[in-house]
Amino acid sequence: MGLGAGPAIAAFLLAAAPLAAAPGGGTAAVVAIRAERMIADPRTDRARPALVIVEDGRIRAILPPDAPVPEGARLVTLAGVTLVPGLIDTHVHLTSNPGLNFLEQARITPEMATATGIANARITLQAGFTTVRDVGSGRMTAFAVRDAIARGLVPGPRVLASGASISIIGGHADVSGFRPEVNDVLASGATCTGAEECARRVREAAKRGADHVKITATGGVLSQQARGLGLHFTPDELRAITATARSLGLRVASHAHGDDGIRASVEAGVDSIEHGTFMGADTVAAMRRRGTWFVPTLMAFQGLADRVGRAIYTPAVEAKAREALARWGAALRAAHAGGVRIAFGTDAGVFEHGRNGEEFALMVEKGGMRPREALVSATTGAAALLGLEAEIGTIAPGKAADLVALEGDPLADPSAFTRVRFVMAAGRIVSPGEPH
Ligand SMILES: [Zn+2]
Repeated sequence: MGLGAGPAIAAFLLAAAPLAAAPGGGTAAVVAIRAERMIADPRTDRARPALVIVEDGRIRAILPPDAPVPEGARLVTLAGVTLVPGLIDTHVHLTSNPGLNFLEQARITPEMATATGIANARITLQAGFTTVRDVGSGRMTAFAVRDAIARGLVPGPRVLASGASISIIGGHADVSGFRPEVNDVLASGATCTGAEECARRVREAAKRGADHVKITATGGVLSQQARGLGLHFTPDELRAITATARSLGLRVASHAHGDDGIRASVEAGVDSIEHGTFMGADTVAAMRRRGTWFVPTLMAFQGLADRVGRAIYTPAVEAKAREALARWGAALRAAHAGGVRIAFGTDAGVFEHGRNGEEFALMVEKGGMRPREALVSATTGAAALLGLEAEIGTIAPGKAADLVALEGDPLADPSAFTRVRFVMAAGRIVSPGEPH
């Protein structure tokens, strides 16, 4: 699915001044962005005009719109759009694409998964997401994608990656459904039994280069196991995971659908609950009390809704998908009303990468959030969950120059998030790219 923005982005870039020659003959290191409407801090600010000065990948100053453009700077004029901080998606799977059946998934090599991740990183960036948290990938694939982007080899958002999800044997992140010896070959090696082995898996993840830890605390919709969506780990195992992660400076994201698994994860001290499908009232209260983040992933449900009843899923998966779909938006509505902190996350990979921005309208329509609250969840909220508040989340001097311009007013109409007209990541204007 395309962004629907290719021609408009191209038209915009024609309006941008050509690169000015800098002293010494290179291209200008300073970019001045004159924005008709800018929301610098989504928590508090109204849209206002501004001149944003970017240098060496960072925001250097925010000036009045009629301030003089620094000599030698490249001027970019953004009219008819709203400039907001670069968007953050805290739940993606860059190395996966949706809609593959059971056998097709088993044929994907790590090399192909890495290539897929590089392609999806570019698509995600073009959709306005300048930072993503990858929460589940095979072997070293997402680390390779992350590092290739960080080294400037390929375009993409800033990536934080967990590597393989930690799971119980036969759980959501294990491989089931084939002959036992085939399951063994395909397995991630990240399953554990008992507190000691679970602590070991966390240390192994840290050693491989994980930025955070992802666990699957309950069953999951898309894995080939028919044991429902309830709690998998023991309380001891969960506590061993969170304590070990904390000792290594890593935060823990817990995939949890059943209320028992959400509650046990919260009590063990995880940082975020992913999906949260059957979240009960007592659990909402516990999350608020402990400051646990909720990552709603409403687009994951969209991915299921697009595929149920089409003979893509096995019977075990089809039954779980229907059970989860009956609860679409209910957990966000309860968590939001109950004062739980919400961080934006979509589960891209379960649906087509690049459609991440559709989550905003779902948060408003199905989750009962105001458009401004949805924007906060994808900027300052998500930045806080990632521990990157000093670097991203607002447009402010000293922060990374991650900027997105949307056609329309995102505070009035959340569909504006699907109309991305300009993206800057770490000070670089992202090339418009062809429709995909
Ligand atoms: Zn996921």
